[in-house]
Formats: sequence, C-alpha cells, structure tokens
Amino acid sequence: MNAAPQITAGTAMKLDGVSKHYGPVKALDNVSFELRKGEFLTMLGPSGSGKTTSLRAIAGFIQPTAGRLMIDGRDMTSVPPQKRNIGMMFQDYALFPHMTVIENVGYPLETRGIKRAEREKRSMEMLEIVGLAHCAKRYPKEMSGGQQQRVALARALVFKPDIVLLDEPMAALDKKLRGQMQIEIMHITRQVGATVVSVTHDQEEALVMSDRIAIFKDGRLEQIGTPHQLYLQPKSEFVADFIGEANLLRGSVRATDDGVTIEGDGWRAGLPKGDIRTEALSRAQKACVVLRPERIHAAPAGPATGNAGEGVIEDKIYLGVEYRLVVRMNDGGKVNIRSRDVATIASMNAGDRIGMAWTADDIVIIGA
Ligand code: ADP
Ligand code: MG
Repeated sequence: MNAAPQITAGTAMKLDGVSKHYGPVKALDNVSFELRKGEFLTMLGPSGSGKTTSLRAIAGFIQPTAGRLMIDGRDMTSVPPQKRNIGMMFQDYALFPHMTVIENVGYPLETRGIKRAEREKRSMEMLEIVGLAHCAKRYPKEMSGGQQQRVALARALVFKPDIVLLDEPMAALDKKLRGQMQIEIMHITRQVGATVVSVTHDQEEALVMSDRIAIFKDGRLEQIGTPHQLYLQPKSEFVADFIGEANLLRGSVRATDDGVTIEGDGWRAGLPKGDIRTEALSRAQKACVVLRPERIHAAPAGPATGNAGEGVIEDKIYLGVEYRLVVRMNDGGKVNIRSRDVATIASMNAGDRIGMAWTADDIVIIGA
C-alpha cells in the first residue's frame, strides 16, 4: 500500500473567522484555517476545547454565530448538511444491523439515487480497499469491532466525498486495536486520496495519522502545523506540553558579552550573538525555555558553565531501551531526562547530585 499523502495545491476547505457562542460560552472563538485537498488534518485538544463544535460546523449540524465556511471554493455556511458532500464516521459507527455489509456500504449511494448494479460494483471496490470483500454478505453482528469500523469507513468514503469527518474514531476500541486501526485508516484514506478532518484528544493518534495537527484550547485555534513543526517550534507552553513531553523552565533574561542567557536557580540557557532568537529576547525580562527530555545530557555534578544545570536525582527508572531520570532542581521544579547513555547513567543513583548539559540548538524559547 502507498501511504504517501496525495496533497495537492487546491484548497478543499476554509474556515474564516468562525465563532459559535452558546450564551456566554464561546465554544468556538474566531477560528480560521485552510485544509488542502488530500490532506489529513487532526484537531487535537483537551475536552471542551471546541473540536466537536468545529466538526459539527463543517458538517452543517450547527450554524456559526459568525464567520464563513468555504468548501471547494463555495460558501457553504448556510447550506444544510444533506447538501454538503461530506462523509462521516463517528465513534459509535452506527451500522444498520438489518443490512448486510455490502448494503451498509452502498447506503449513501442509494440515498444519492445510484442504481443497484452500479452501487454493488462501487461498494465491492470499496470493500476490497478496506480488505473486507470476503465479508460482503455478512451482517454487522458477525464482524469484529475492527472490521465493523472498516465497514463504517468504507461507507464514509464510497461516494467520494469532498471531505471525510472522523470524530474520535478509535474511542470505542481497545488500546492495541486502536494502534492498528490508526495505521490502517491512515493508509486507506491516503490510498483513495481522501481529504480528512479527524478529532481526537489522543496526542499519539494525532502524531501517527496526521499531515498537520490543529491544536485547540478554550475554543481557539492555538497552533496549526505538521507534527514536526509543533514539536520543534511550539508557539506556547500549552503546545509544547501537549505535543510530546516537555520540560518548561522559567527564568530571567540577561544580556551577556556573548549573547543572552536565561537563568534560574541552578540552571542557565545561553544563546549566542547572531542567533535570531537572541535579538528577540533582548527586549524580554522573563522567558520560558522548553527542553525535551531526550535533549538533556546527564553528567556527573560539576560547576555549571554555559548551557547547563544541576539537581538531585529523585527517580531513576530503567525502561529497556533507555533510562528515565526525574531530577529535582534547586527551585523545587522537576526535570525529566530520557537517556540511552547506559554507561553514564548506570553509575548514577537516586539521591545523587548531577549535572545536566544541553546546547543552544536543543532549546526552544517561548515568550520572547
Ligand atoms: P470538545 O469536542 O473539544 O470536547 P466541544 O466542541 O464539544 O468540545 O465543546 C466546546 C465548549 O462548548 C464546551 O465548553 C461545551 O460545554 C460547550 N458546548 C458545546 N455544545 C454546547 C451546547 N449545545 N450548548 C451549550 N454549550 C455547549
Ligand atoms: Mg468532542
């Protein structure tokens, strides 16, 4: 199977300043973004952040309080759901129990007036793609949870919708099956070139499946980007903490002869002159440093110079491929380290004072 995304230059959908208010509650607050054709976008955020509201606005089940929704270049803001060419798969995939698998898949074609022979041909093609052609005559209750979900996906894709919406599609599956289905759904949607908007609160699911991730917080779009961009250049502490694991160190900014440093009790992070971040920081008094656990090198305790810190090991945990250290800093804050440097870590123990080192390239600055 070919899992390379078939993203084209065309814009599939555009949200332009979309808001949805319920009395004083701003379920959605001025959200704007574009979705490209063939793209797999995941909306990720904590419960209540506006993900489902966004999806329902795209589907047409709710009318925005303000803003515009364009699909394939047309203003669809006031178009009813049945007149939007959108496929949907929700967590309770709601297959019709009295219909066979092929009848379930063909249902959206039937409602669109497609004749029986053509319907069966296209449904069968879709069942081939999801690997269930041999189950065409079965009833949903004769299928496993994962198979039923693939039937639901086939039904959402069979009429070649402009956009496919998935709302927490894996929520009803157990953890192992969820991991398999994430990869399968990603493969299938890419194979047919579908444009997908998915919703989840599961960070890993978003990372596995998406070309881009839109992070929601309190009804607002906090940041949108590829998994890589969000990991390497988070714009806020919230995003840094939501994508991957982040150590957030808050310190005071000070100009030095060599550039600028951000310092706290027992640690400092330095940026050289000429680094574009240095100039931005020169106007700040406080800043937050994001340090990923795998970018911190544990070292025997010693005087801290340059990009370094010190602390006391609180926990040392062996995880097979790596060690995890929890280090208590002088100010009481904790820092997580993940290290594969088994030789160095083996001789360190809980209660030991250790040093930590990193480089300017390892740090991300927020709030400059
Ligand atoms: P998510 O899907 O990210 O968990 P939702 O989009 O469902 O979040 O909800 C966003 C916010 O809007 C929440 O605070 C929720 O309580 C509120 N909300 C959603 N639907 C309604 C409604 N019909 N009436 C009042 N408040 C609502
Ligand atoms: Mg929801």
